[in-house]
Amino acid sequence: MKSIIDIFSPLKSDLITNNAVLYKTALLKRDILSFLIIQNKGTIAELSQATKTSIPKINETINELITEGLVIDHGKILNGVGRKPNIYGLNPNSAYFLSVEVNRHNINIAILNFVEEIVHIERDIPFYLQNTPACFESLCHHIDTFIEKHANDRHKIVSIGLNLTGRVDHVSGNSYSYFNFHSTPLREVLTQRFGVPGYVENDTRAMAFGEYAKGVVENEKNILFINLDDGIGMGIIINGALYSGKSGFAGEFGHMPFLNNDIICHCGKKGCLETEASGVALTLQMKEALLKGISSSITEKVNSIDDIKLQHIISAAKNDDILAIELLSKAGEKIGKGIAILLNLFNPELVILGGKIATTESIILLPILSSINKFSLNLVNTDTSFKISTLGEDAGLIGSSLLMRNRLLDLS
Ligand SMILES: [Zn+2]
Repeated sequence: MKSIIDIFSPLKSDLITNNAVLYKTALLKRDILSFLIIQNKGTIAELSQATKTSIPKINETINELITEGLVIDHGKILNGVGRKPNIYGLNPNSAYFLSVEVNRHNINIAILNFVEEIVHIERDIPFYLQNTPACFESLCHHIDTFIEKHANDRHKIVSIGLNLTGRVDHVSGNSYSYFNFHSTPLREVLTQRFGVPGYVENDTRAMAFGEYAKGVVENEKNILFINLDDGIGMGIIINGALYSGKSGFAGEFGHMPFLNNDIICHCGKKGCLETEASGVALTLQMKEALLKGISSSITEKVNSIDDIKLQHIISAAKNDDILAIELLSKAGEKIGKGIAILLNLFNPELVILGGKIATTESIILLPILSSINKFSLNLVNTDTSFKISTLGEDAGLIGSSLLMRNRLLDLS
């Protein structure tokens, strides 16, 4: 079977003029797949109409796509009268994507098939993110181990996508905040290390795209996705497309300097939203409160105060722990004030709250909404809906895989 990369290589070729026929065929195949991605299935007549191509040409190209293993024939439509056409759809197993999400304290790795179903996944692999070559090697080792475990599907993996916190430029393939010590862009390092095309993306942008294409989004096209986790990030979708800014630095909501404090943020500046409202800040605040003698059920769950992580605070809040709820509520007020500024700037149709803190649902949502009501113009905030992510912790892995598929097929 031909690799999907070979089938679509004429689309990327610099020698398009010398390969006009190959280019046109690859373009038509791309259009057919893109129709099947959006519509899920289609008949020859529908594909002919959608691509403005003759029925015989569509027939011929569909047969090629079937031989190449990208499309499957589902047989004839069962209902209706008259001559029944065959229905065609994507072959879920024609290509696999390896998605890796690196968080500050764990990593998640998954293999997804061509229709974005998770085939294999390992969540919460313990990891401590540092910007060192040893840490990068350890990450690669985890990926190797995961691939070896699922070696049967290895030859079908067509690309590897890495979601990283901080400033990431998917176009140049550079990550500026982590693993930025190689002489070539991180994307190239991944490509060479794993032998398939590599992609890098900001973690929150990948989550935002996952929610947009497969999650909570219905018909909205202008969306802000707020990632409330150890850090605070934002994914921006404008007219249905992910917005990254000139060099991939857009969306650093957590570093908006509107707090009047002297706490130094990990970015080096003072007064960032993250210094008081992020998961890292909440963890510090919880430790300080316990050291002052304020009680919380959390102390029954850990051996020492030093062991407290964001997840403990979230679990405690869900179990009605007053201190955890109070800390989340104060963080929510500050996040809400920040979102009020965003509403005035972007006037989005939808704001999605994702990340670990968003799993506390009303505990975080209510103080956020109350603060938005207080700080934004009523006309503006009633124009926007607020939803909690439905893909939860899988949003980034699904988003990364979708972005890889789109970039492979040159779809926007
Ligand atoms: Zn900062």
